[in-house]
Order: sequence, then C-alpha cells, then structure tokens
Amino acid sequence: MNISPHTTLLQWYEDYGRHDLPWRTNPDPYAIYISEIMLQQTQVKTVLERFYFPFLERFPTLNDLAEADLDDVLKMWEGLGYYTRARNLHTAARQCNGKLPDNAQDLLKLPGIGQSTAHAIAAFAYCEPLPIMDANVKRILHRYYALTERNDKKLWEYAYKLFDAAHPFEYNQAMMDIGATICLAKKPLCGFCPLETNCRGKTAPLTYPASKAKKIKPVRFRNIIVYQKENRYALIQRRTRFLSGLWGFYETQEKPDTPMKPIGEITQNYSHFTLQAHVYLCMESFLPEGYEWFSVEEIAQLSLSRADHKVVSLL
Ligand code: SF4
Repeated sequence: MNISPHTTLLQWYEDYGRHDLPWRTNPDPYAIYISEIMLQQTQVKTVLERFYFPFLERFPTLNDLAEADLDDVLKMWEGLGYYTRARNLHTAARQCNGKLPDNAQDLLKLPGIGQSTAHAIAAFAYCEPLPIMDANVKRILHRYYALTERNDKKLWEYAYKLFDAAHPFEYNQAMMDIGATICLAKKPLCGFCPLETNCRGKTAPLTYPASKAKKIKPVRFRNIIVYQKENRYALIQRRTRFLSGLWGFYETQEKPDTPMKPIGEITQNYSHFTLQAHVYLCMESFLPEGYEWFSVEEIAQLSLSRADHKVVSLL
C-alpha cells in the first residue's frame, strides 16, 4: 500500500520539524510578516540571532512601525542587506492603518509582498489553504517531479498539486524544513526524506533543475573620498535606488584632482556586482552639494551600508 505523501510529511514534521522557531510559536500576524520579509534573502540563523527580536522590540506593532522614521527602520535593518525590504515594510505599515490584511489577495497589494510571501503570511497567520514556494520548496518540487525546466508558472501548478490543503501550516513549514535540512542543494539526504517513496528525481536529484549558466559578477572600481573638517566627516543620505536612505561617503569613478591621502582599500560583494574601492582622506574645505558633517560618534547613529562601515573602520 502506498502511503500518501501528506501522511508521511505530517508525521515527519511532528517528529523533526523546527517547532521552536519564534515565528512559529508567536501567532501574531505582524511578527509572522516581519519574519517572512527578513527571511526572503537571509538565512534563518542570521535572522534569529541578530535581527528578529531586536526589530520587534524596537517596533512591537504595525502602528509602531508606521509611526517610526524611515531612518530608524533602516538603522534596525543595518547588516541585514537588501534594504528595499525595510523601505517596503515601512511603506506597507503606513498603508495598513494598523491592521495587516488577513488574506493573501490583499497582502499581495502591499509593497514587497510577492505571491510566495503573501501565501506564507496567509497560511501561517490565518491558516489560509495556500502553498508557498521559496527557494527551498522550488528545489524540492523540481526534484520530486523530476523537472529540468525552470518555469515558475508551471512550478506553481506542481506546488498546488502536492499541497495538503487540510494542513496548510504544517505542510508549508514541513516543506521549508525539508528543504533546509534534507533536500539540500549539494547533498540531498534522500534516505531521511519523508517524500522519498514517490520522489521521481531521487536517483539523480542534482540534475533537477538543469544548472544555470554561471554568470560572472562584474566588478565596479570606485574611489571613496572621505572629506574631513577638524574631527568631522562628510556624508550624504543616498537618494539613488540602490541603498536608498542609507548614509554614505563621497564615491566617484574618477579620482578628483585634489591633494588626498590614501588610507586603504575596501571590497564589498553585492548580489549583482562587487565593489572595489580605494579610500582617500581629503582635508579640502570643498564639499559636494548635499553632504553634511558628522563626528565618529554621530556616524555610529546613522544607518550605513557594509561598505561604508568598512570605510569608517579605516578612519
Ligand atoms: S527524496 Fe531526495 S531528492 Fe526527493 S525530495 Fe527527498 S531529499 Fe529531495
């Protein structure tokens, strides 16, 4: 007799699921929302150890987040990266008027919430019967159905096909846990997997999906000029799309023709490029428009990118 994958999955979740993750024990939809946004591009361990609790302590409710200054939100997000998430959270909180929508369709209207995140919040906070599809779940589906093609639209059909609508919370949590602990990207542990019986890809899991052509990340070479006046340094709050809202030092492709002292180099990896920069100290009184002067103590209160933190450590 072939036991249903739902039965084995539920049993596995009961026995081995990560039940003690705080966003699984706290039913507050707002806390679930925060965790889902943090987990979009960040590992569980990092979110758990450094960001989830301090953020909720600082902004315990949706209203607290809505009423906060964006600068404060960015400061609490500092180090988590992908700052658009923080800006969208802040905008969404202001749109919500104190109450998070209680269904996926309305959650999808908020900035920063795509289909999988809307389904996750709706399933975990309100038990709405919807499957999720984060990177881990995608990998399982590709393997379980032996799919080589990467096609998200079709994959959603498979997500619904395998989904256990009677247990949306447990099913989705189990799928995330299997993806994180068993159906691993490089070394799947099929012998321990509750989906093994019916998994079509288990004999060659690494072939599903077909591997992507490797992209070489471009390197951006820049000069970072730290303008100094007495014991104060010049920074600007960025208004560009990338790192918008964060404070940073003067950055330029061309090295200005002014006397400057080299103080070091920094490298920072971003998802779509690597920054390599020479850092200079400049005592010129000339200051590009929009910059403001700060002491080191004041800089510590600003939200900075990792690259700019590296510059501060050179001062
Ligand atoms: S049997 Fe193996 S390949 Fe299939 S879902 Fe489980 S871990 Fe992944």
